[in-house]
Amino acid sequence: MSSTDELPPLVDTHAHLEDERFRGEVSAVVERARAAGLVRVVVVGTGPEDSLACLQRARSEPLLAPAVGLHPTHLNGLPPEAFDRIAELAQDPLVVAIGETGLDDYWKEVPLEVQIQSLRRHLALSRQTGKAIILHCRDAATPLMAELRADFQANGPLRGVLHSFCGDAAQAEDALAMGLHLSFSGMITQKGNQPLRDLAAGIPRDRLLVETDSPYLAPRPHRGQRNEPAFVVHTCQTLAECHGITLADMARVTTENARRLFGL
Ligand SMILES: [Zn+2]
Repeated sequence: MSSTDELPPLVDTHAHLEDERFRGEVSAVVERARAAGLVRVVVVGTGPEDSLACLQRARSEPLLAPAVGLHPTHLNGLPPEAFDRIAELAQDPLVVAIGETGLDDYWKEVPLEVQIQSLRRHLALSRQTGKAIILHCRDAATPLMAELRADFQANGPLRGVLHSFCGDAAQAEDALAMGLHLSFSGMITQKGNQPLRDLAAGIPRDRLLVETDSPYLAPRPHRGQRNEPAFVVHTCQTLAECHGITLADMARVTTENARRLFGL
């Protein structure tokens, strides 16, 4: 029995390994993820180029499961055919999800109307491919939930995830009612975030996922450092404590959920 057999299986459902902060180090990062018990890492595209890079890397590294999409804050300056490129990549059987898409009213560089048009195309692509949608939300819960609600009413339950969830109970309830999963990141481990832990404690276990959002949002013991998939164990540990179960049990639950949602 190797040492990894004793660790609970984990899935990091959101990492940006094509970020420049990982340049030249992805193989080492992947090896540390394996050593930490990760069985898959969903690598998430933010534009046409890194979406393609995610897919190409996954062809030679089976730990990685690619998602392709246009990040709502990265929509300026893209060629008009950028989304067509994403739609093309999305047909590849290796691609497990569409995104990340969503709405962001924090940075205010891309007009919300432009983000909404992009979100709608990603939602349609998710429905067309049957692949889960990965949703980003920052300071935009009201318009995002209105868009999701409209899609839900027109087309039925949504298959996807609100990633790095940090919204309120009403948003969580709304998302769950439409069929979405909620993914928690290192934010839940931070000292001042008791309200988010209280909220997480009430989320049905079959809708919970864990992620790092690497290289951002490092969990508490690594605060201030570059985040990486191996650190997802700390987020899973905190989530386990919120639910009063063991780390091993929460790892099993969240991994089962990730496998079901993304077809891993
Ligand atoms: Zn992200």
